[in-house]
Amino acid sequence: MRGVRALGLALLLSTTLVVAGCASVLAPLQPDPGGSERREVAPADARAHGLPTRPKGPSRSIGLPWSGGLEGGVRLPAAGSSHVTWDPVLRRSPNRDWRQFGTYRTVRRVIEVAADYRRAHPGAPRVVVGDLSRPRGGDFGVRYGLPGHASHQNGVDVDVYYPRRDGRATAPLTVSQVHRSRSRDLLRGFLRAGAGVIFVSPETGLAGQGRRVRLIPNHETHRHVRFGPAYPG
Ligand SMILES: [Zn+2]
Repeated sequence: MRGVRALGLALLLSTTLVVAGCASVLAPLQPDPGGSERREVAPADARAHGLPTRPKGPSRSIGLPWSGGLEGGVRLPAAGSSHVTWDPVLRRSPNRDWRQFGTYRTVRRVIEVAADYRRAHPGAPRVVVGDLSRPRGGDFGVRYGLPGHASHQNGVDVDVYYPRRDGRATAPLTVSQVHRSRSRDLLRGFLRAGAGVIFVSPETGLAGQGRRVRLIPNHETHRHVRFGPAYPG
């Protein structure tokens, strides 16, 4: 009976979380597969790309993406030579600073993937990045703007918008505006960078890229990338 109750509670929790934005991101954290193929941003380019300074103290996630916090978080700059930020609530660029915090590892890898992508696609617009976490993590629900996030609590989650077919560096409004081949290349960049799991909408046609790419509804305009919880070294 206890098992039945536990199962019921788990189903209720899942259902509750699925209805809130990026909420259904309930997969367990995956071990970081390494990302040995990724190229790091050269020190000379670091400032242009917006790579933040590595914190003196620890920069790490606490707890779980849907129940956690962030210690020593760093802010993704509002823009760099390869990315811009987008506020999903106010629907404008740049995003507000307090929505842009992650572990040093997360922020660095977002910038590195964007830089790699721009090297491969010189004519493409900069990568449009949405919410990460709040400065100290924790709740990022509807009180911070609809639809809110049930995850994005411990500095390892980041929303990245699909590149648009019309070349504008803003969030697409519908899946018909998404540039499929560039979206696939950007997705592969995040996989090479060691993303533990990436959630995409079935309508994007981005499934079939391996077990770390998972389908989720309500993600027609952006993918949700989750990195592992620690930054080695
Ligand atoms: Zn998300």
